[in-house]
Amino acid sequence: MGSGNAIRGSRVGAGPMGEAERGEAAPRVRVPFWCANMHETRPSFASDAAVPEFWDCPRCGLPAGQDQANPPAPPRNEPYKTHLAYVKERRSDKDGAQILAEALERLRSSSRPIY
Ligand SMILES: [Zn+2]
Repeated sequence: MGSGNAIRGSRVGAGPMGEAERGEAAPRVRVPFWCANMHETRPSFASDAAVPEFWDCPRCGLPAGQDQANPPAPPRNEPYKTHLAYVKERRSDKDGAQILAEALERLRSSSRPIY
């Protein structure tokens, strides 16, 4: 694996066998991917490149797979988590405001002259 990466990395320039102009001559394949929302995306890969199992949907960001009938499940935690975090944030904001108000009230009353 490590050596494979090294070879790939050194390929950026001219290849050892005088490969033809980069990109242009390399045959490409378009591989369709579908996400859970049935968005289809067809990134193209060099025909000798390893096609990844999953591809991020450019439209909604969910992982997309090559099996249209069985797209990868969306990471369930994410949307809920962010939503919950948002709600929590708002709630704690409210709490914070209340705590602040109480503290101010206490401060005010304590700084009030005592009769
Ligand atoms: Zn999508």
